[in-house]
Amino acid sequence: MSWYHPGMYDPARDVGCFWDDEAPPLGAGIDLGPVGDDTCDVAIIGGGYTGLSCALHLARDFDIDVRLLEAGPLGWGASGRNGGFCTYPPSGLGPGELIARYGEAETKRFIASQVEAVDLVRNLARDENIDLQPQGDGTLHVAHHPAMFAALEHERDLLNGMFGIPARLMSRAEIAEAEYDSTEQFGALLNPVGFGLQPLRFARGLAAAAARAGAKLHGSSPVTHREKVDGWHLLATPSGTLRARRIVIATNGFTRDDVHPGLARSLMPVMSNIVVTRPLTEAELAAQNWRTERPCANTRRLLFYYRMLPGNRFLFGARGDLTGRPEDGAKMRRFMERRLGEVFPGWRHVETTHNWRGFVCMTRRLTPSIGRMDDDGSIWFALAYHGDGVSAAPWSGRLLAQLIGGKAELSDIPAPMRGAPPPIPVPALRRWYLRGALGYYRLQDK
Ligand SMILES: Cc1cc2nc3c(=O)[nH]c(=O)nc-3n(C[C@H](O)[C@H](O)[C@H](O)COP(=O)(O)OP(=O)(O)OC[C@H]3O[C@@H](n4cnc5c(N)ncnc54)[C@H](O)[C@@H]3O)c2cc1C
Repeated sequence: MSWYHPGMYDPARDVGCFWDDEAPPLGAGIDLGPVGDDTCDVAIIGGGYTGLSCALHLARDFDIDVRLLEAGPLGWGASGRNGGFCTYPPSGLGPGELIARYGEAETKRFIASQVEAVDLVRNLARDENIDLQPQGDGTLHVAHHPAMFAALEHERDLLNGMFGIPARLMSRAEIAEAEYDSTEQFGALLNPVGFGLQPLRFARGLAAAAARAGAKLHGSSPVTHREKVDGWHLLATPSGTLRARRIVIATNGFTRDDVHPGLARSLMPVMSNIVVTRPLTEAELAAQNWRTERPCANTRRLLFYYRMLPGNRFLFGARGDLTGRPEDGAKMRRFMERRLGEVFPGWRHVETTHNWRGFVCMTRRLTPSIGRMDDDGSIWFALAYHGDGVSAAPWSGRLLAQLIGGKAELSDIPAPMRGAPPPIPVPALRRWYLRGALGYYRLQDK
């Protein structure tokens, strides 16, 4: 059950993503295509970073017989079309709120695990020879209003003091001179952890690594129904049924009711949208004094995120649109083009060449969910990275592999991420809850 337009889930529809034009194709023999009738130990549903990393680590580190089923081509979901911000932490809660809910020790463990997650992406790229097109050392959290600079000071103090991360504040003038200028730039926090990457290259690189390690990866294999008979999960797809002893649900924002309705209805898929411009000229870059490769996000609740890509195309992203209908997508594109011109007036006339969108995934507790179903220990899951899954998802996929392989225990999952998401009361009203939240955030941003 989903309230979004069915086209959002249709792999036959052109996503319009810039990364598709740029990334080398997946090599031959990696995507084995539609699955037939088959049997395996572990079946993974979802071929994004979570599923692919889990498949890689299960096959490579534990020699487990693993199949992965993906509805579209491998990396079709958010993993192949995100903004490429390899940043942290994957949470809708700030450090103060995390500490209030989970205590200092577990919050520290959570943050440390997510700094490790950023390193894991770099290490995977090195070990598996993935050309990520890395860009920028560190990320900028930019005050969109003078009043927000104080919030950044507080964030700096927490990062420096409690988490030992040497983040540093830069004034409005310093940013304007060394990084870029804009109408919504009032100083920023430079966080040294994080960088930008080409997301589809990363997804395809992970797929190639998993296949090399012996995982069998099947694109064009949507699971339309699951049942359990005599201790086996039967995963029905249009081309055959896969029998598996254990399953991993790695479907994040694209989760629907087919596999586990209870889990699906505890999730809140939220739309994230991106536009990319044509290459900017040197004069246009100078108009905003653009000098940085660092990924930037501002302090709005409904945030803008932006970065300059290789070849001087500008990527600009925003959350919004509650329907997924093509006409609302077109409206969202016009809104983003207008806002891009307001925030960067020197580029008001610059046309965008690409626009696409997809789902990020949230839950009521505003942190990711990793673990095993209480009522069936053979069902594992990792999802809900709250829009920050480029590093969190591969890290979670690896942790699932370690849990399944017996090298980790549930207590190794930091408390903010441990266990299934709490149910959402009256799931049929999720669209209206989201509408309320977006309206509230819009007011706060004003
Ligand atoms: C536009 C956009 C921009 C983003 N920008 C960033 C960013 O800059 N930085 C960041 O950290 N995060 C970003 N994110 C979020 C990030 O991309 C995700 O958190 C991450 O990719 C999640 O990976 P995943 O493997 O868990 O899920 P996904 O990559 O979404 O993969 C889930 C897969 O499951 C498949 N699936 C679903 N149901 C079934 C089924 N029944 N049978 C078979 N397959 C199924 C889907 O087809 C999909 O491919 C962005 C997301 C979007 C949409």
